Amino acid sequence: MSEQKPSTQAIRIQTERTQYREHSTPLFLTSSFTFPDAELMRDTFSGEAEGIIYSRFNNPNTDEFIRKVCMLEGAEAGFATASGMAAVFASMAAFLKSGDHVLASRAVFGSTHQILTQIFPAWGISHTYVEPDQPDTWDDFVQPNTRMLVLETPSNPGLSLVDLAKAGAFAQKHQLIFNVDNCFATPLIQQPLRYGAHLSVHSGTKWMDGQGRVLGGIVVGDADLIDKLIFFCRHTGPAMSPFHAWLLSKSLETLEVRMERHCANAHRVAAFLEEHPAVRDTRYPFLPSHPQYDLARRQMKMGGGIVAFELAGGIQAAIRFLNSLRLCSLSSNLGDTRTIVTHPATTTHAKLTETERLAVGITPGLVRMSVGLEAVEDIIADLDQALQQV
Ligand SMILES: *Cc1c(COP(=O)(O)O)cnc(C)c1O
Repeated sequence: MSEQKPSTQAIRIQTERTQYREHSTPLFLTSSFTFPDAELMRDTFSGEAEGIIYSRFNNPNTDEFIRKVCMLEGAEAGFATASGMAAVFASMAAFLKSGDHVLASRAVFGSTHQILTQIFPAWGISHTYVEPDQPDTWDDFVQPNTRMLVLETPSNPGLSLVDLAKAGAFAQKHQLIFNVDNCFATPLIQQPLRYGAHLSVHSGTKWMDGQGRVLGGIVVGDADLIDKLIFFCRHTGPAMSPFHAWLLSKSLETLEVRMERHCANAHRVAAFLEEHPAVRDTRYPFLPSHPQYDLARRQMKMGGGIVAFELAGGIQAAIRFLNSLRLCSLSSNLGDTRTIVTHPATTTHAKLTETERLAVGITPGLVRMSVGLEAVEDIIADLDQALQQV
């Protein structure tokens, strides 16, 4: 039989069935596992025998979730964590030591920025921000102690892209561990490992669950690096709960159909906003007006579910717009069945200085939308009536 398509495997990869031959994967809500004898227990602990010991290390539900994400990303191995930030943190901390230096895209997630600027300096780990859309300038910032390149594409919330092929070549030239936060794209839209990334990191909380129910994260990548990461995580304890892994693994069965609809809705919403007189600048990777449209077409299969736009009336218009919405939710999450609208400057990115915000395109009138699975006519009707109030 020819290799099955990812959408089939995302449904059919499964844990070994129990004596009941259940159709859907059962929930293994157990912290530990037993052994029939002391010898097998010894061999499992030493790694000589394969087996499951303790749910901080692994669990059948977590293993199933990891196998599916590895398949979708084309990765050798992975580890699942309690949240996306636990995954981001582990993907850096497991490989860095005092004295090391990180090159990071200026447009990284808010909490990633806090780790780099507020937590790592106390541990002697320094960083330099580079411009995500100018990889030709990065050489100037490499130091003898630079160990890792940390990128996010598309970025949150400005939707700027990084050229993964150029970044991969750059990382290889300078022998850097290349670490990509692939949360916004999902492995269905983009697979960073194919461009030379060593690690691909996700918040499972977002599109992977897609239903606003759980927190979770995952790091996948090259087996030798993931071995090191597993050692770090086993002993520091950021493991994913089996219950969340069970939900996330089930959610992956519908990831493709959900993402197709999210992307189709987002594209329609972006096209509507672009034509609206109250909107100054609409950003969506698959709109020809996106400054990196050609790159988006090259490295992304679909445009994603996030649209960002700037209200011509600035911050006052943005606040009035949010207060006038009737269908869309005001919430900080993204990647939900329900359309969510956020004002980054006063919420997710309020802790940054104005200068830091402007450097990553977060203007006072910028609005971020995570386009849901409601009928697109209803989403657009809500936006239309709210835009009349600004
Ligand atoms: C949400 C998010 C995270 C963090 O994930 P949590 O599950 O909230 O911890 C990291 N990176 C990106 C791009 C995100 O959108």
